[in-house]
Amino acid sequence: MAKLDRRLDLKRPVTVWRSQDLIEGREASSLTMILRTVGCRWNRCTMCGYASEGAPATAEDLIAQFERAMQRSSGAQIVKIYTSGSFLDPQELPEPARDKILQRLEASGIKRLVIESRPEYITAERVDKCLSSLETEFAIGLETANDLIRQQLIGKGFSFQDFVAASEIVHEQGGRVKAYLLLKPPSRSEGEAMRDAIASARAAGPFAEVLSLNLCNIQRNTYVEHLWEKGEYRPPWLWSALEVLKSVPGPIVCDPVGAGTRRGPHNCGECDAAVAEAIRSHALAQDVGPFDNLDFVCRTAWYELMDLEERAFGNPIV
Ligand code: SF4
Ligand SMILES: [Zn+2]
Repeated sequence: MAKLDRRLDLKRPVTVWRSQDLIEGREASSLTMILRTVGCRWNRCTMCGYASEGAPATAEDLIAQFERAMQRSSGAQIVKIYTSGSFLDPQELPEPARDKILQRLEASGIKRLVIESRPEYITAERVDKCLSSLETEFAIGLETANDLIRQQLIGKGFSFQDFVAASEIVHEQGGRVKAYLLLKPPSRSEGEAMRDAIASARAAGPFAEVLSLNLCNIQRNTYVEHLWEKGEYRPPWLWSALEVLKSVPGPIVCDPVGAGTRRGPHNCGECDAAVAEAIRSHALAQDVGPFDNLDFVCRTAWYELMDLEERAFGNPIV
């Protein structure tokens, strides 16, 4: 029998890593795994290239992937299971696999599970199943509190009210909600995107225990990549991310994935590593104080560019 390509071995997760997170304000060790499922059923968001990661994984494959990832769980208090889609979609993660995973996590004494799901799969019954096994945080890709931007520019296919309803289902049963916010959607200037992220954080805050600011990366085979190739999209500046983190009451975390690369959020190239490091430290310390020590020349360029953009297209910021 031909040997399976390692990347497409359905008994192995896409990737697994260890990191540090927060539980009740204290640092805790976490294990993150990305399971290879059939992929997101929606598969229409303009910045998302996860569709290319899907493969016809069975319940048995998914349990094997999970078990393989759990080999690295020693000492972990938090387990995050991502599927590049929705953990609660039974088409992606068949119920027997979900049940088995929950039982296993409960037996292993893990304190908190973090999963991601679109709101339409968040039902009282599924939430109850998770919570009766262990404390669970349900992460929802709200992206923005603005329905027009979410619908027209991101193509998300659900409303702010759908997010609120899902959050209420989770909270009624004592679960936690994490809301993902996107900086910056396509066809928004830097300033517009920054203001939208700030307004969205304020609007979503009352419905979530924690916010996660996701800085847009150019993923392959996406509409955003198409715009970027035509020179019509630039990933957000790291300065804009700092401004959002400084402007909203926490807890808010941000992992600047791909910072400093052409496809990732970036400043001038000189200061990217230092600013990204400050953003990572903030995720654990929730202290914006150290941001004031970051003073690199391109901050002025960022501000002037944003001002020019605003003057050209409206909404001047000065
Ligand atoms: S962003 Fe989420 S909902 Fe949208 S296509 Fe990607 S995985 Fe699906
Ligand atoms: Zn710089």
